[in-house]
Amino acid sequence: MKTSRPESSPETYEKSNARSDAPADKTVKAKAKTGAKKPASRGRKRKLTAYSPEEIREIFRRFSIIRPEPKGELEHVNPFTLVVAVALSAQATDAGVNKATRALFAVADTPEKMVALGEERLISYIKTIGLFRNKAKNVIALSEKLIRDFGGEVPRTREELVTLPGVGRKTANVVMSMAFGIPTMAVDTHVFRIGNRLKLAPGKTPDEVEAALMAIIPEEYLFHAHHWLILHGRYCCKARRPECETCVIADLCRFEGKTNAIPAPLVESAEGLPQTVTEHAE
Ligand code: SF4
Repeated sequence: MKTSRPESSPETYEKSNARSDAPADKTVKAKAKTGAKKPASRGRKRKLTAYSPEEIREIFRRFSIIRPEPKGELEHVNPFTLVVAVALSAQATDAGVNKATRALFAVADTPEKMVALGEERLISYIKTIGLFRNKAKNVIALSEKLIRDFGGEVPRTREELVTLPGVGRKTANVVMSMAFGIPTMAVDTHVFRIGNRLKLAPGKTPDEVEAALMAIIPEEYLFHAHHWLILHGRYCCKARRPECETCVIADLCRFEGKTNAIPAPLVESAEGLPQTVTEHAE
């Protein structure tokens, strides 16, 4: 099937092209001026993506048209309840977590109220969620730590967030982005799959995919990119059978197994809006 591509050359976007805050290396510049030979590559340069910057910009431009205001689907009323909801959502569906937390957050929406509720009563609210015993322990422990070390407030930095029991890098990234508006890239199962399947940001670990995505995504799209990728993975580029016929980036996609190369029309999508109740466990 013929694949249409943008006019720009699809040369690979490598780390050396990526956005970087690192200051220019004056020594290297000086050597370049004197015509000194470039040292032989030691094979450490990793290709961050198979797409050109123009193609990446076009992918996110299309996502921004079909989902102008993407939102996470986990219900919460403040940063604390967001931390709890994300901690409960590991290996569970957002819909399942929302069903349990609606009643829970009505009685415990602060660390103090959660500690007062206690582990056994907390379990009675969340026992429909997988691994509920361990998660209940973590929620009580993280509530106690918030009171003890952070004055009952959720901290804003990743370094502080990951000190909370049950909070890893992914949860910290979600909280920083959704509660405090700090652009981050939380790599969940959907983002990891898309990064590798499309060769958008290939990586063996979530950290590698996260670093590549943070480097290649244009600044103006970075804040919403995490939700766009999750929603694209949840509703279109699904794990077992991607729905390439309805995909708005089908022409750009570099997945060898794609079943269509004609992009779907750019129509605003209702999927992924907060009221949508969906099952997405894999
Ligand atoms: S064309 Fe298919 S494989 Fe490629 S991004 Fe779209 S749904 Fe995924």
